[in-house]
Amino acid sequence: MKTPICSFDAKTGVLCAKCEEKLHAGQISQDDVDASVRLSKVASKSQDIDRFTLSKGAKVDSDFVLVLRSPDVLAVRSNSALAERIEGEFQQKVWFLDSEASERGFIEGLFHPARVLSVNQFWLPDGKVTKVTMAGKAAQKKVDVEKVQKIAKAVKNMELLVEFEQK
Ligand SMILES: [Zn+2]
Repeated sequence: MKTPICSFDAKTGVLCAKCEEKLHAGQISQDDVDASVRLSKVASKSQDIDRFTLSKGAKVDSDFVLVLRSPDVLAVRSNSALAERIEGEFQQKVWFLDSEASERGFIEGLFHPARVLSVNQFWLPDGKVTKVTMAGKAAQKKVDVEKVQKIAKAVKNMELLVEFEQK
């Protein structure tokens, strides 16, 4: 498995001097380190997960976000046992997001399985806002908008404005 830290560090849970320096310099975060170590534990018992490439980890409230390559996210979505193993190790809800997705694809992944109708960007005096329009009121009940907004901010520094089509 590839992670933001060396695979040896991920296995032992102790950072080498080089990774320690990256952490201090802010090139990687403590959440990246925690995610690498915990996912590595699961990978030691699962060949599928051992093939993953973790590009980022982020703690958002009581949830954990793992940013992985597209095939890894697909593997987790198509095999709920993998997701359960990972969530079992993390002991919290884990979100799986695609590091290789376009901005639109990233947003669709955030709201999965609810359907995104459109994504538009516009500028406000204090920065860029990405407006997401979701299909219908039914989706509104399923989506934790505040959580999704926090994740978008933590992972992509994206300000999301979420609207639901009223029909
Ligand atoms: Zn290292």
